[in-house]
Amino acid sequence: MPLPTHLQRFTDPIPVLSDGHVQLIDCMGDDLAVVDAARVSFFGKAEEHTDAANRHLIRYLLRHRHSTPFEMAEIKLRVRVPMDCWRQWIRHRTASVNESSTRYAPAIDSMDVTPPNEWRSQSSDNKQGSAGFVDPEVGKLLTARETYIQKELRDVYEERLEHGVAKEQARKDLPLSTYTEAYWKIDLHNLLHFLSLRLDPHAQLEIRLYAQAIAEIVKAWVPWTWEAFEDYRLGAMFFTRQEVTALEDLMDRLLANGYQADKLVTNAAAASGLKNGRELTELTAKLRRLFE
Ligand SMILES: Cc1cc2nc3c(=O)[nH]c(=O)nc-3n(C[C@H](O)[C@H](O)[C@H](O)COP(=O)(O)OP(=O)(O)OC[C@H]3O[C@@H](n4cnc5c(N)ncnc54)[C@H](O)[C@@H]3O)c2cc1C
Repeated sequence: MPLPTHLQRFTDPIPVLSDGHVQLIDCMGDDLAVVDAARVSFFGKAEEHTDAANRHLIRYLLRHRHSTPFEMAEIKLRVRVPMDCWRQWIRHRTASVNESSTRYAPAIDSMDVTPPNEWRSQSSDNKQGSAGFVDPEVGKLLTARETYIQKELRDVYEERLEHGVAKEQARKDLPLSTYTEAYWKIDLHNLLHFLSLRLDPHAQLEIRLYAQAIAEIVKAWVPWTWEAFEDYRLGAMFFTRQEVTALEDLMDRLLANGYQADKLVTNAAAASGLKNGRELTELTAKLRRLFE
């Protein structure tokens, strides 16, 4: 089946990093496949319901963490990623992967290059993170050293191949900046999980850039699901039991200062901008719980 017209532009690779990309190969299902699956008990076809009803059902399903309807839609991408970034990506076990083999074919002759002004400094308060940039003058030196070492390591690799060394052994000293390519197929439920982790500011910048490129495709592919994902995952916050206790304490203090619970709940619910009856009811119930 050819891709729907509005998705065909994504068959052109979306550039990421110095020589990477994300490219849409195929997809199965869309928002309507999700609502069709959810209505299986009623033999309801998505087309028999209004767009508004289908959109609300998707929002309900995502808000209440229903998973399997979102597994009915799938996407297949071709990605070109430096090995260090791929090493993080491949930890997501719920995708099907076929990666080009450097035992079988020569390693891709391309390595990720960092421009002088993009060397990030080690964060002082997050051992896994970065903060700000090193001086671009120092960056010039680091980039020059990178260019030198990458060429040297590629030359050593090719020299081994010329001497007849097997590809599986010749590759052992190639750097982690070497690009690899893979087909990556995943269902929508697990893709949203991947995106929630890898769009997060705690994820490393490089994989975040790939997640942002994939997000562009997902927005166009399943717009109602994307909208719900933004509302209930990306823009949401979860509270622990202790945090709820702290919020309850906050509410008690407001009441002790003469505020009225009913008025506070009504105003806060209005500020949310929610129009949907069920969602508004859920919010109001949560807010009231904090005053109990
Ligand atoms: C910011 C960040 C920092 C990280 N730092 C580190 C680190 O320092 N060291 C490190 O090793 N990893 C690190 N990781 C990787 C992380 O621990 C996970 O392995 C990775 O994000 C994949 O998540 P996942 O298992 O939820 O996803 P998937 O593998 O896609 O799985 C999706 C879900 O399926 C279920 N599932 C899949 N496989 C199984 C299984 N075998 N058994 C039970 N349930 C399963 C789980 O519910 C899981 O959440 C980091 C990840 C992030 C986002």
